[in-house]
Amino acid sequence: MLGIEQLIVPDDGWRALSRCATSPEPLADLFFSEELHDIARAKAICAECPVMAECLAGAIEREEPYGVWGGQLFLNGKVLMQKRRRGRPPKVPRPEDHLPDVPVPEHLRPLLRTA
Ligand code: SF4
Repeated sequence: MLGIEQLIVPDDGWRALSRCATSPEPLADLFFSEELHDIARAKAICAECPVMAECLAGAIEREEPYGVWGGQLFLNGKVLMQKRRRGRPPKVPRPEDHLPDVPVPEHLRPLLRTA
């Protein structure tokens, strides 16, 4: 199995190809939001990003403390598989509370720490 050192792609310009860097609107509020609908929108943007794997590898290596990176929601270096809305959970789950499932590239799966 490859270690993260072998998977990190040096930034030789790939960041300039990212959907978040090339967006005409500022997106930081989406990628670092507590709101499920913002997080869902950020993940959807990542899902169509041509450099998602490079971004996710970097986030894993840096143990990102927070935010959406490479299609995944990070908290304290781990990927949160679910995030609940604040307050008491509804008896019947709301469809809008479901975060999109963005597949993790196979070569990065062994390196992912989940919570
Ligand atoms: S995967 Fe998401 S956070 Fe990473 S560069 Fe692409 S759009 Fe930005």
